[in-house]
Amino acid sequence: MAIFKEMRRVRPSSSKAFDRTFGPHMDAAYSGIYRCTGCEREIAVEGGRRFPNHPHPPACPAILWQLIVSVSHNVAECVPAKFRRQA
Ligand SMILES: [Zn+2]
Repeated sequence: MAIFKEMRRVRPSSSKAFDRTFGPHMDAAYSGIYRCTGCEREIAVEGGRRFPNHPHPPACPAILWQLIVSVSHNVAECVPAKFRRQA
């Protein structure tokens, strides 16, 4: 299970993106942390990248990757104030 320390760094979502599953040779539609629904292994994948192989126990149900934590690429808050555009 994915864990985190600071609650203010994550927020809940009802996006359907979390309902989709992806086969092992598909490309990830979103950047984030995925879990294998068959064996519960978790991995981080960048959107557009193919899901990697992993040591999936043969007795477990088939590999399907499900997004459990989506990442934000909004870095506007990380830009030092002196470099920010004025609106
Ligand atoms: Zn697995």
